[in-house]
Amino acid sequence: MKILIVNAGSSSLKYQLIDMVQETTVAKGLIERIGIPGSKLKQTVGEDKYQVEMPMNDHIEASKQMLAALMHAEHGVLRSMDEIGAVGHRVVHGGEHFTASSIIDDDCIKAIEENSQFAPLHNPANLMGIKATKTVMPNTPMVAVFDTAFHQTMPAKSFLYGFPMDYYSRLKVRRYGFHGTSHRFVSEQAAQFLGKDIKDLRIITCHLGNGSSLSAVHGGKSVDTSMGLTPLEGVLMGTRSGSVDPASLQFIMNHEGMDINQMVDVLNKKSGLLGVSGLSSDMRDVEDAAAKGNKHAQIALDILHNGIRKYIGAYAAVMGGVDAVVFTAGIGENSPELREEVIKDFEYMGMKLDPQKNKVRGVLADISAADSKVKVLVIPTNEELVIARDTLELVGESQG
Ligand code: AMP
Repeated sequence: MKILIVNAGSSSLKYQLIDMVQETTVAKGLIERIGIPGSKLKQTVGEDKYQVEMPMNDHIEASKQMLAALMHAEHGVLRSMDEIGAVGHRVVHGGEHFTASSIIDDDCIKAIEENSQFAPLHNPANLMGIKATKTVMPNTPMVAVFDTAFHQTMPAKSFLYGFPMDYYSRLKVRRYGFHGTSHRFVSEQAAQFLGKDIKDLRIITCHLGNGSSLSAVHGGKSVDTSMGLTPLEGVLMGTRSGSVDPASLQFIMNHEGMDINQMVDVLNKKSGLLGVSGLSSDMRDVEDAAAKGNKHAQIALDILHNGIRKYIGAYAAVMGGVDAVVFTAGIGENSPELREEVIKDFEYMGMKLDPQKNKVRGVLADISAADSKVKVLVIPTNEELVIARDTLELVGESQG
């Protein structure tokens, strides 16, 4: 069976067609500028790259063009839409309603709508993708896979903030966590790689990309994670500040004459690596600049390294020890410098890198020294594959 994975943004739609027999990607594409002049679709099939520019006013037109590209006589991979057995959608916020992936029916759509209050930029966009693909593929079963679901196993002591309880009971303000699909995938891969039952492992997963979060995975279950009600909390990110003193906002707003929306915009879009370095949100640029002696770039890296180290120490405390630390996503998979800085001086906890093995980029590898008690691993994440596997399983069950 072939499964189509869709990740819809407000003006974009990413897709990937996966053959579930081999678990290989058959085609992937990106549609940009939906509803904006200059809409275009780019599709990659192996070495073949196909690009079309044409007006796409909404997600329905974009979905039609996605299918047209997949069925294109020269650049496509499908003869008919019927070859797509199911569609798996990435949905950012499942709130407390979704503890796992779900078949998309009217109730599911309603619950995603209800959770839009927590992810006002993402859930409505995800829903546009769901509704558009349902319009153009009305008979194809669809599944929603949530970034938050994996973290629903967190105990109350990890997910509650120190607010008056009423904010949780009435407003559902709590830590939800994100990147759950990635934390789940790499922790399962780690157990498999180590030849151990995940139930016996305490793993700290470090998903470090444009957005970054860490998770404490005890016995295969997320017991704590660094992102919160929104993906702003936690370590320093590309343009996001990560955790700050909440009262500092009042101070800054009073001095700068900003309202709360402007302030949160600064925290989300003008802070992080970009804000501190004053150069770029891209880790490669910041590492290059720091290597050439740029002090602000160096302090941005130092804040990031230090923040990650603090979470690793904290999560080892939460789980009463740690058996493996996993680095994943763009930075985690590709920056030996960051991994070295993060893991150094952790020998007192039995954690030591092998500098030679740590040179790897983007491949699954054990980078710990032979005498390291804690395994340190690089594991490329593959969120699309998790979405595809969940989709196959749920659709199989529903047709079962
Ligand atoms: P992601 O959000 O997972 O795509 O990750 C994007 C981040 O990974 C960006 O900050 C990139 O600069 C970073 N990244 C990608 N390749 C490298 C690399 N070779 N070295 C350092 N950072 C990298």
